[in-house]
Amino acid sequence: MNTVFIALGSNLDNPVYHVETGIRDINNLPETEVIKKSSLHKSKPVGPQNQPDYINAVIKIITNHEPLPLLDVLQDIENKHHRKRVERWGPRTLDLDILIYNDLIINHERLVIPHPEIINREFVLIPLKEITNYDFIIPKYGKLLQYI
Ligand code: ATP
Ligand code: MG
Ligand code: MG
Repeated sequence: MNTVFIALGSNLDNPVYHVETGIRDINNLPETEVIKKSSLHKSKPVGPQNQPDYINAVIKIITNHEPLPLLDVLQDIENKHHRKRVERWGPRTLDLDILIYNDLIINHERLVIPHPEIINREFVLIPLKEITNYDFIIPKYGKLLQYI
């Protein structure tokens, strides 16, 4: 089994609903279980500011999916939530980003792990801190606490 952290974000059509049902959808994936779930955090948008605030959360899962197949099924879930890609960082019903996958460092054209913005985004760092130990290490970047 692999240990994976996933960031969820939504700012359209009842964001709390999309984040909560998104977590449920991930838990329903075969050979996958959500084992920790942060509280829901409200944040200002990244990029274009003329869009609603976001609801964000981070979850910890265990899964048998390899990294790229996991990205595929997460994108299926985004699509099921009627996510439309209009502009970069534009409003969306559900964004599912893989933050950390075991201790892997991946630089694939479709998948960068750890997520390249992980240490720059408070809306990821704070919920990640909530569900990890004080000495948690982010692969490639080191101690989580130094970034908060
Ligand atoms: P950001 O990645 O800055 O948060 P975003 O989440 O809005 O931006 P998306 O439109 O959701 O970006 O995804 C664009 C592409 O990013 C996806 O098609 C996917 O191939 C790629 N990608 C690269 N690394 C990751 C990752 N760790 N998790 C999810 N998608 C990733
Ligand atoms: Mg994102
Ligand atoms: Mg994304």
